[in-house]
Amino acid sequence: GEFADFLSEGDAWVAEALRDEISAKNIEENLRYLTSKPHLAGTPEGKAYADWVVQKWREQGLDDAYVTDYNILLSYPDRDSPSYIALLDENDRERFRTAVFEEAVDAETEQWLSSIVQPFNAYSAPGTVQGDVVYVNYARVEDYERLRDQLGIDVTGKVVIARYGKIFRGEKAKYSQEFGAAGLILYTDPEDTVGSGGEADMYPRGWYLPGSGVQRGNILNSAGAGEPLTPGYPAKDYMFRIEQNETDALARIPVHPIGYSDAWHILNAIGGPAAPAEWAGGLNITYRLGPGFDSASWARSIKMNISVRNERRDIFNTVGVIRGRVEPDRYVIMGNHRDSWTLGSVDPTSGTAVMVEVTRAFMEMVKRGWRPRRSLMFCSWDAEEYGLHGSMEHVEEFHRNLASRAVVYINIDTAVMATYTLRPKVSPSARQEFREATKRLPWPETVPEGTTMYDVWRKRSPNDPDDPDTQPRIDLLGSGSDFAGFVHRVGVSCIDLGYTFDTALGVSSYPLYHTGYETFHLQADIIDPGFKFNRGIAQLAADLIRGFADPVILPFDLMEYANYLGVMRSDLQAEYGTDLTNHGISSDSLDSAIRNFTDAAQAFHSRLQGIDKNNPFEVRMFNDQLMQLERAFIDPLGLPGRPFYRHTLMAPSKHNKYVSDPFPGLTDTIFDAERSADPAPAWREVAKQMSIIAFNIQSAASTLMMPA
Ligand code: GLU
Ligand code: CA
Ligand code: ZN
Ligand code: ZN
Repeated sequence: GEFADFLSEGDAWVAEALRDEISAKNIEENLRYLTSKPHLAGTPEGKAYADWVVQKWREQGLDDAYVTDYNILLSYPDRDSPSYIALLDENDRERFRTAVFEEAVDAETEQWLSSIVQPFNAYSAPGTVQGDVVYVNYARVEDYERLRDQLGIDVTGKVVIARYGKIFRGEKAKYSQEFGAAGLILYTDPEDTVGSGGEADMYPRGWYLPGSGVQRGNILNSAGAGEPLTPGYPAKDYMFRIEQNETDALARIPVHPIGYSDAWHILNAIGGPAAPAEWAGGLNITYRLGPGFDSASWARSIKMNISVRNERRDIFNTVGVIRGRVEPDRYVIMGNHRDSWTLGSVDPTSGTAVMVEVTRAFMEMVKRGWRPRRSLMFCSWDAEEYGLHGSMEHVEEFHRNLASRAVVYINIDTAVMATYTLRPKVSPSARQEFREATKRLPWPETVPEGTTMYDVWRKRSPNDPDDPDTQPRIDLLGSGSDFAGFVHRVGVSCIDLGYTFDTALGVSSYPLYHTGYETFHLQADIIDPGFKFNRGIAQLAADLIRGFADPVILPFDLMEYANYLGVMRSDLQAEYGTDLTNHGISSDSLDSAIRNFTDAAQAFHSRLQGIDKNNPFEVRMFNDQLMQLERAFIDPLGLPGRPFYRHTLMAPSKHNKYVSDPFPGLTDTIFDAERSADPAPAWREVAKQMSIIAFNIQSAASTLMMPA
């Protein structure tokens, strides 16, 4: 009866049955269908795929499946007057123009390249700029500072050309604008995207980027605010909208991406001093800084002619629910974006193909008599590529429900970009359970490193390569995918899943990222023939979902958080200890808060050992403390200057949002203080942040105490 049900840890047979149920063939068929048309956000095809996902979930028998919509600011290139970059001679004649489309290299790309969206940077300012050109390496702050302070080059009013890589492209646009550039050209350098093998390893034969391939991508600097016109609130019809000129998220300069075949013509024509050795990329030329052109070239000026328009359109998230048997008001959430720049066979459609198979497998279990203790919620997000908009608007609309009911959010974006190792990002308290799940599952292939996912991942991604007992590497959560709103806005523990490549390859992302070459062929024949790894990640996602949904007590390990705080603390000491001491800033309050948190976590877990699992109130009390722990690190006022990033222990780095900065309030204010013309008040701000972090850790500790 009811009571026995309450006590049940979930049916033991489910773990294995779920794993066996997941079919590589189904994932392959899902992917084949989902990559048969482009599905850019805000287009009819995008909507059609939203309907397909809901239809699929209804057929599978989920308890609920629905579409939600938002009306948001998107950005599209003008098909009738395409953007281009030109080199002009002394008579102002355009003698070279960059390509509008990527080149068709096989039948599949032949069929699609002219109907997928042409390469562009979403939210670029439109317009024409003409003048001199300067090469700015990766367009990072340190690159611009070096140009200004050591190389004596002023980029004011110049068109700058930067390579993709190292940091989020939106930051490249922001720094270029801040340092005064009139326009920014982004290109992919072969050093970051081509293997040693050359032609034979390039698409369509291999995984590497041909010269005409171009990485699309947004250049918004939203700082966690969501779509640009409704920061903080859901973009429903009744919602008030600010004007485009009232937000700093939108670039004021034109920005446009090109491939390395086109970039060669521009870089080869640049004159001036040779670039520093580390700034030279993989093209067979002398990289020069400019400004202006080489005397050997006929080129005398460069022109960017950019027609990209911001436009409000509807986007569509889909949500599917399997209702929990005992605790329907607790959600274990899995999400994945559905929109893609092109056919998106890697980003994100490998994830969508996987998620739709995961829901099918769960419904098979339901048909065999199982039902999760907690509710499972599956979300297929729209407009992630434009700046995480679908998930962020959802978080804004349902903030209260998520804050009081969400147990964990499991994100799967690019499920399989390569098959070398796992690349998890996990909140500290969920790491123990994550490792356990990888110990329960096989590595999808026979390899010398071992048989379980854990074995192979640990060998290939050791946390400490010199320690034979090392744990495998897990990263903190930055941004760049849909978990960001959950962890940084609401404080939900998150897991981001995927396989990745061997860093020894030296590439900065998978080379065909956001290009027209992300086809079914790429996933099915080049990356994961047989879909073994797609199946592996589906098994891992399913096992984690079950692992958080079924047990009577939530599998969070708070000692893991305590230990991780210790690691963060010693990293802080190593990097900034002297700085802090020199400015008279004491870390005693931080140390004491970490000690208190550690003691509280220890005491909490030992009380948990002894609880009466027959007492539903006691069980709920402990589970609530476990679930809410992550929320305790959220500061309602947000981080300094970034009100929408509110987690005091981690935030997307200001200088590269893909990675996470530990203790961001401190690292950001120290960065500013070190560059400040008026250091005294700037260091006072550092001292203030130290106390705020100490307070938040202390307050998290207090949530673990006995309630009375
Ligand atoms: N994943 C997308 C990208 O890297 C969007 C990330 C974002 O805007 O945060 O371009
Ligand atoms: Ca909004
Ligand atoms: Zn993605
Ligand atoms: Zn993407």
